[in-house]
Amino acid sequence: MIIEDEESISMALEDDFRVENYDVEVASDGIDGLAKAADPEIDLIILDIMLPGMNGFEICKKLRNQGIKTPIIMLTAKGEEIDRVLGLEFGADDYVTKPFSPRELQARVKAVLRRMEKEPDDVEENLFRSGELEVDYLQYECRISGSKVNLTAHEFGLLKYLIQNRERVINRDELLDEVWGKDVVVSVRTIDTHMANLRKKLGEDPFRSGLIRSIRGVGYKFSPE
Ligand code: CA
Repeated sequence: MIIEDEESISMALEDDFRVENYDVEVASDGIDGLAKAADPEIDLIILDIMLPGMNGFEICKKLRNQGIKTPIIMLTAKGEEIDRVLGLEFGADDYVTKPFSPRELQARVKAVLRRMEKEPDDVEENLFRSGELEVDYLQYECRISGSKVNLTAHEFGLLKYLIQNRERVINRDELLDEVWGKDVVVSVRTIDTHMANLRKKLGEDPFRSGLIRSIRGVGYKFSPE
């Protein structure tokens, strides 16, 4: 999406991007631009600053306040306050200073889109899903069928460690070292108590193997099958 009031610029950009097989939407004033830019189909916004109706700074800020995270590249004039453009205040992703070459802008667009594509992977690494269970390592949250399970920090640590090492059985000493820390003195029984509480919170039957299996004489294993 291109929001730019100077027709010579917006038409040239539209042509350049169409040649590169992008679908292009154009708006020539701020109000119209803001309305169109909120469309979730839009993958990237090229946003001029001086616009009739509403300026680019305001559009950027309003979109971010609405929770719209579509990447934005601002078209700035020399001397405009770049730190404010990119900083928290407005939340743009990049900027290009006028006058710019079409190739420069295309390169920025590609770089920003590439950066965006990578993010879903990062999210996946921080989120574990198996059946009804969802563990969010960033938010320290565990959910079953979408409802939050309140775990203590140690219970969460145990669950996370078991999931991340689910290809093997983990003995209690290792769990103590990894979850409580090497210099903390805790009895091995403590692990069993925490593990029992964790399993109960996950809705597991202590007499049957569920997500967490207790391997007698050895330790524990996460096995969602
Ligand atoms: Ca302008």
